[in-house]
Amino acid sequence: MRFLPIFLDLRSGPVLLVGSGELARAKLRLLLAAGASVRWHATDGDYGLSGLDAADTTRIERAEGDPSTADLSGVIAVLCAGAGELGPAISARAKAVGLPVNVMDDLAHSTFIFPAIVDRGEVVVAVGTGGASPVVARRVRERIEAVLPARIGDLATFIGRWRKSIHSRIAEFPLRRRFWERVVDGPIGALVLAGRADEAEAALKDIADPSAFAGAQAGKANGKVTLVGAGPGDPDLLTIKALRALQDADIIFYDELVSSEILDRARRDAARVPVGRRVGKPGIGQDAINRLLIEAARSGLRAVRLKGGDPFVFGRGGEEVEALRQAGIAYSVIPGITAGLGAAAEFEVPLTFRGEALRITFLTAHKAKDAETVDWSALTDRKMTVVVYMGMTAAPAIRAGLLAAGRSPQTPVGVFARATRPDSQAVVGALENLPALVREIDGGPAILVIGDVVAHSTPWRDANLNSLISNFLVAAE
Ligand code: SAH
Repeated sequence: MRFLPIFLDLRSGPVLLVGSGELARAKLRLLLAAGASVRWHATDGDYGLSGLDAADTTRIERAEGDPSTADLSGVIAVLCAGAGELGPAISARAKAVGLPVNVMDDLAHSTFIFPAIVDRGEVVVAVGTGGASPVVARRVRERIEAVLPARIGDLATFIGRWRKSIHSRIAEFPLRRRFWERVVDGPIGALVLAGRADEAEAALKDIADPSAFAGAQAGKANGKVTLVGAGPGDPDLLTIKALRALQDADIIFYDELVSSEILDRARRDAARVPVGRRVGKPGIGQDAINRLLIEAARSGLRAVRLKGGDPFVFGRGGEEVEALRQAGIAYSVIPGITAGLGAAAEFEVPLTFRGEALRITFLTAHKAKDAETVDWSALTDRKMTVVVYMGMTAAPAIRAGLLAAGRSPQTPVGVFARATRPDSQAVVGALENLPALVREIDGGPAILVIGDVVAHSTPWRDANLNSLISNFLVAAE
């Protein structure tokens, strides 16, 4: 870093602007809009002010003659824009009396440069690239613009107004800081950001004992666990609530199925702890996970338990909630898009369809042994779509069970792997060929969808079109 961003108090004195033409006028507009007073030396003598707000022009003072001497007295910074040859000379004079100077597009003669700025009232963000690339700086600024709440400046102003009064009522600094954190992160801050400043004002006034308000949130009482559904893989399928919880987390316990793209959306300094089971490897076990969650919350952390899909669909979220309840830990649950719905949307399988599919069953058949415990006789209804989680290894048993239940061997089935991820894969065919279809999959996780509606899916239609084309070509020969 060569340039340190510092903020200039524009009320402490005028800025000297040397230069003419559109370049100088653009800087003039910027300075006046920011509230500066400007001592302007127009090198070509044209002090025309068209296009400027009349009220602003009262803050312009003309500096005529040689801008070398008296004009520098009392100014806080010197600026050359459209000053031509004069730039280096003015720069030397400014430096001689210790004034910061900027000569436009001339790094060598500048002691400060202008950053790209995000302007939200009291909240100002400066972005610089050391003069290397204003375009890069502007792109960074655009990204910051996009994530900052529109009223973040109002929030700063609101707090600024109350600062002194709270300062006098809470002596200890750490408690004061917690007080403000609680205001900013809690309902009062949310009111200001929602444009309801009057209600925020009233709520803050209502706090009879600021120390108690801060203390209530402090330390261990703060801890909680949020079960968050991460969806099937595509990070854009996270809900806004899930994103908020990830941004707010101190520690994240995540499953094997959660992609790194999703973890990338979490708060950068949140600790990340993998607790998943890999196929074939046991993982740390459900009891150990429950204990970790409880301990994290008890030590005052905001813990997120991040699970693939939805926490309550074959995700053992129920057991975790049970354990948290028993331990008296505060918790909440944020749903996610379950894999079956993600796959259905991506491959266009309407899970229900008028007249064709009136029911959906989600079931799991983790191993062949599980498949033996499924009551297949409950799945005889042709108008029922069956979605099978963790069903890859049990494919032969699933086929056997459904055929024994009287389902047609020709029933359309889809095997959808890594759904909603960039490398997703679909294989479709008839129920009688299920084990062979599963073998075509290049890697999990994968889900099975069984039922007539699979015939509406894009891979099915593509396959049919291909066979129509090859039949046509054979016939045409
Ligand atoms: N709670 C999760 C399911 C966990 S069980 C949910 O609601 O989606 C794990 C099983 O989910 C995997 O064996 C697989 O059958 C399915 N699965 C998860 N992500 C998937 C994906 N992206 N594509 C296909 N199947 C997926």
